[in-house]
Amino acid sequence: MAGEKEIKEIYENGMKILEELTSNAHEIQEQMLEEILIRNAGTEYLSRFFVHGQNHKQNFKTNVPIVTYEDIKPYIDRIANGETSSILFADPITQFIQSTGTSEGKPKLIPMTAESFEKRMVKPLLVDLVMKKCISGLDQGKSFYLFFVKPEMETPSGLMASLYTTTYFKTQIFKNGLAKFCTSPIDTILCLDNKQSMYCQLLTGLLLRDEVVRIGSSFASVLARSIKFLEDYWKELCSNIRTGYLSDWIADPACRNAMSSILTRPEPELADLIQQICEDKSWEGIIKELWPEVKCISSIVTGSMSQYIPLLEFYGGGIPLVSPNCGSSEACFGINLKPLSKPFDVSYTILPNMAYFEFLPVNNDVGGKSHETTTVNKPVDLANVKIGRYYEVVVTTLAGLYRYRVGDVLKVTGFYNKSPQFQFVERQNVVLSIDLDKTTELDLSKAITKAKLVLEPLGIMLTTYSSYADTSLTPGRYVLFWELKMKGSNDLPKLDAKIMEECCGIVEESFDFTYKSLRKGGVISALELRVVKHGTFDELMDFYVSKGASISQYKPPCCLKSEEAVKLLNLGMVGTFFSPKTMF
Ligand code: AMP
Repeated sequence: MAGEKEIKEIYENGMKILEELTSNAHEIQEQMLEEILIRNAGTEYLSRFFVHGQNHKQNFKTNVPIVTYEDIKPYIDRIANGETSSILFADPITQFIQSTGTSEGKPKLIPMTAESFEKRMVKPLLVDLVMKKCISGLDQGKSFYLFFVKPEMETPSGLMASLYTTTYFKTQIFKNGLAKFCTSPIDTILCLDNKQSMYCQLLTGLLLRDEVVRIGSSFASVLARSIKFLEDYWKELCSNIRTGYLSDWIADPACRNAMSSILTRPEPELADLIQQICEDKSWEGIIKELWPEVKCISSIVTGSMSQYIPLLEFYGGGIPLVSPNCGSSEACFGINLKPLSKPFDVSYTILPNMAYFEFLPVNNDVGGKSHETTTVNKPVDLANVKIGRYYEVVVTTLAGLYRYRVGDVLKVTGFYNKSPQFQFVERQNVVLSIDLDKTTELDLSKAITKAKLVLEPLGIMLTTYSSYADTSLTPGRYVLFWELKMKGSNDLPKLDAKIMEECCGIVEESFDFTYKSLRKGGVISALELRVVKHGTFDELMDFYVSKGASISQYKPPCCLKSEEAVKLLNLGMVGTFFSPKTMF
């Protein structure tokens, strides 16, 4: 699955392939489980759960436990340390995929085989195909995607560990396929220095502005960051365009070489035009202005990324936001078959050939605490999910994960043929917690969405947020960090203490019964809101990237666990406000 022939096959028959996959979802799932078990029942891990002569598939659900990464880490560590026996998988593990690990922990190492890697590479092609079918004009130009890589790491066994995307960008299927329709030269994407990479990709995007029909990145946070970079560097970019000379600090030879065939001559008129657009005090609709042919902005904007929707809508000036797919380092879950649906209505359709999926029912009634009930329920398979119900996704993969909890909660919204469709709800394990209270990412995001409505009529935008549980004093409190700016500019808004306190109150009011009773009983003290200046969250991203996070898959932690990160945000603080003490 690496040649031009296969790419052509997907472009020609991709919609048919999708119809077949989704129409036969149950059968494909059953076959997949059977194949995985036939091949791997003899591995050290699985053999413990099967008695000789038993039907593996029938006993799979009763015998094989549902696990988390921590449960299987000892097996993974042994593979990483060089044991070659069939520990988790019968075929050789060819590499590890690093999960981004931005929820503070170290990256997880996810085993990968050549076969499962190849299977996955079909997904971006299908995504592209669906987008081109649904959005006219997308096949008549180039995609300005901001893609980045992260250095690979070698495990003691000599196996490489890298981000899925880093490995993917180095494959022939990417180089011969999607890369041909991207503005960024491959060498600028593969440059390990993220700053030089970003600069060259933006420069190319500007030089080829008339050809650009789609702008995007993997996650919305990356696009938001790239626009901030453009704010900081547009003058220098214009000067390069005006003179035809690439800045000296772009020292990476491959980048310089790639740029030499794009930045070929002085283009003063183009430079003047871009300068004129960027000089405008308000950057509202800047994407439309800079790239007039753009038909959509493609970036994941669901889950924790939804906090970037207002910002991208502001910069996009009415260009549709498309959230194309949903997945993790462990497995791809699904793709968006209706790319033009509104960000908050996005549903993804499960691709049944990507993994064997099970779904752990989660009690997520409004105000319910989703994480409390997951473990007591039995998982159901893809054929038995119910519309309107919430589930935590559990995968059995083609590369040695068996009944593995990914940690994401999904809500089933319907079916496409026989394949379930779902909304991404939340990352299960992200919680703010003091005493008995456990506030999830979703609880927090709902509360903040309500509170920020107070700021909107004042022209104030909340661009990013995070939080932490401050237990250095007793009683402890939740602290929110908000980066605010005026709608038309990056100026810091005038902060009216009364209004900011009202925001704190609305957040607390939105939290659930447990929180409110603990607050009333004095076990939790008044919520604190720290406003930070524009750019502070970019520094947080730099901090995590310096610690090994990948810029291209960066997800700002919605709850901070690192003291250093809290200190960094505190440095950008311009105001602090508290909920009224007597609120409850
Ligand atoms: P990683 O394995 O480090 O690439 O991170 C994967 C995680 O990113 C998933 O487990 C989700 O929590 C999150 N994620 C991936 N796709 C989406 C999406 N479409 N919407 C919201 N969150 C997503």
